[in-house]
Amino acid sequence: MTYVIAAPCIADYSCVEICPVDCISPMPQDPGFEKAEQLYINPDVCVDCGACVEACPVLAIYKEDHLPLKWQHYTQINADYFSQKPLAAAGSTSNHE
Ligand code: SF4
Ligand code: SF4
Repeated sequence: MTYVIAAPCIADYSCVEICPVDCISPMPQDPGFEKAEQLYINPDVCVDCGACVEACPVLAIYKEDHLPLKWQHYTQINADYFSQKPLAAAGSTSNHE
């Protein structure tokens, strides 16, 4: 299980500031930043604490099994960001484990 960022994300970084394991990307210094349409949660690192949900001003973050039907494909979109864009993952030291 993981948390997932869906379409409403406005990339204000409120969730990044509160996440205890730094699993939300990209940050402005990351190579994939300019091409990213939103922020994404790394499902392999997220510890399911839920802290980011309350931090988000636009209700863009959901527990995987609580995603609205229209956004259920965002589970894959978030995971794909980390599995298919090695440049982005490589740009964050916290994800390099
Ligand atoms: S649920 Fe917790 S660990 Fe997962 S992305 Fe949100 S703040 Fe980070
Ligand atoms: S707090 Fe919400 S809107 Fe802001 S970056 Fe995170 S998911 Fe996107």
